[in-house]
Amino acid sequence: MNTSESLVEKFRSKSYKITPQRLGIFKILEGNLEHPSAENIFATIKKTYPTISFTTVYKTLDILEKMGEVLKITIDDERKHYDPNTSTHHHIICSECNKISDVDGESVNPVLPEGILKEFTPTRYHVSFYGTCRDCLSKQ
Ligand SMILES: [Zn+2]
Ligand SMILES: [Zn+2]
Repeated sequence: MNTSESLVEKFRSKSYKITPQRLGIFKILEGNLEHPSAENIFATIKKTYPTISFTTVYKTLDILEKMGEVLKITIDDERKHYDPNTSTHHHIICSECNKISDVDGESVNPVLPEGILKEFTPTRYHVSFYGTCRDCLSKQ
């Protein structure tokens, strides 16, 4: 997983500006296993930098995603979550409370049909399982 220092270096190497706000976003992501949404990150960074705009947060996350430094998990158009853990792993997503939990990469092994493998060589994959978590099931 990336540290905020390694993200600063990667941003610099691509000539992106490092602002205190951006560094703050990197620090929020560092070691974060909660799969925060852009809104969650915005709410947290606003406590330190009250004038920061949502666009700044979103743009920074977008750059990180394009650089492959965070994984974007899209539940639907309104709910985009970010995962700084870019190693192969998968997610179980509760459709009721939107809680996202990790599933170890080794435990899921999707196999593409041979016909497709002739046309396409996969280099990475990410599987999301949607359903209901135990907490939400017990409330039903
Ligand atoms: Zn739930
Ligand atoms: Zn994850």
